[in-house]
Amino acid sequence: MKKVGLSVLGVFSLIVIVALVKGVTHYTDQQYHPKSYITPIVFNEQKAINRLAKAIRIPTVSYDDPENFEPASFNSMASMLVDEFPNIHTAAERTKINDYSLVYKFKGSDPSLKPALFMGHMDVVSVDEITLDKWTHPPFSGTVENGMIYGRGAIDDKSTVMALMEAMEHHLTEGHTLKRTIYFAFGHDEEVGGKQGAKRIAEYFEQSGTKFEFVLDEGGVILKPGMMPNISQEVAIIGVAEKGFMNIRLVVEQDGGHSSTPPEHTGAGIIAQAIVKLENAPFPADLSFTNLTFDKLGSYADFGARVVMSNQWLTAPIVKHVLLSNSKTAASIRTTTAATMLSASSKSNVLPTQSTAVVNFRIMPNHSIDEIKSYVEQVIDDPKVKLEVFMANNASPVSTTEALGYKLLEQTIREFDKNVLVAPYMVQGGTDAKYFYRVSDSIYRFMRVKVDNELLSGMHGIDERIPTDDYIKGIQLFHELIYKTAVVPALG
Ligand SMILES: [Zn+2]
Repeated sequence: MKKVGLSVLGVFSLIVIVALVKGVTHYTDQQYHPKSYITPIVFNEQKAINRLAKAIRIPTVSYDDPENFEPASFNSMASMLVDEFPNIHTAAERTKINDYSLVYKFKGSDPSLKPALFMGHMDVVSVDEITLDKWTHPPFSGTVENGMIYGRGAIDDKSTVMALMEAMEHHLTEGHTLKRTIYFAFGHDEEVGGKQGAKRIAEYFEQSGTKFEFVLDEGGVILKPGMMPNISQEVAIIGVAEKGFMNIRLVVEQDGGHSSTPPEHTGAGIIAQAIVKLENAPFPADLSFTNLTFDKLGSYADFGARVVMSNQWLTAPIVKHVLLSNSKTAASIRTTTAATMLSASSKSNVLPTQSTAVVNFRIMPNHSIDEIKSYVEQVIDDPKVKLEVFMANNASPVSTTEALGYKLLEQTIREFDKNVLVAPYMVQGGTDAKYFYRVSDSIYRFMRVKVDNELLSGMHGIDERIPTDDYIKGIQLFHELIYKTAVVPALG
């Protein structure tokens, strides 16, 4: 008895020792260590801030209903760019795609270098009328106050469009010539899926046979301390993949009739049961993207986190449990299921003839549209419920962190501030970048803005705003990236 007790204790001690040793040794420093630091460019910051404010004042809103599209706003956005960036409009070849999206080509002198594409979108989401009085400044006022630029699009994504333009305009005033060709592409309907803008731009490049060394779009940001669990430093997260999107409409058809003589289950009831089954059978958790991020950061993490994360042979269930307990982190480790729209009878005493529900899925890169559909069929397991798939696109491929685009970003971010750690991650929403995989394998998503939960809540919400300091540093970052990519393409 004593012997058995001892050996159980021995095995337990051994496990603890192995786990602790792994915690110490598993993660090596994966961060880029700068050999030199960047001296930021000097320019008239106030003018740049005013130009972003000007862009915010143009209400380039994307509406779900295409009937509401306002061409005048997009036309004035395009002509504002012409007025404000004279050097660009002399040097670049500008092409309008589908009337409102813009492509700028800055031709490089070395045709052996594949071009690079920098993207942004000019449209913004609408402002919910009932929230209007909650804004500190009206959403399209572009007010600059206390080091903040307020308004819809301040972060998402007019700051990207304007910062790219500022950076390139500065290169041209400096008289820099480009070796690598640079393209800018600004879509006009990202917020409603990008089918009229980015998708058409990608087709335009495909038809002209243009392939890119890398593509950079919005997506990742710099997380302020405390935003990345178990890491006390700031972390720049670069999107290397994005989740897919898919809706399934569940439909139950019945004869209808008077509600005084109902069948055992009405269409509404059958639909409700189907939803309950789906909610009770969530997709399995998958830690591969958590690990992709954590591998780059592990050596900077708390010891406890390192022990847990490096011993997933033992701890995976605990890690999954913790991440699944919060809806935000849960979405980063699995395909999500969200029942969103319901309809059945329009009158309380009439049995429904057609009952429907829409369930929205955000698909992990290791699942496909077809797999989701057959999983849903299997879980609902009821022939009365018919499934219709609509608005579906698969998750994106995963771009490598070893390619030039990622390396340049990582290097530049760290050369500006070596206290900022850099790591790849999977973007949970959708971006225009998803359309560009046919013209590049290396697609990354990042903008240089430091966020906490408060700043994030403004995106698509109330009081969207960007600190002026972040906006200026965003311009400096793009300037340096363009420099490294095209003026002195050392790594290319
Ligand atoms: Zn956006």
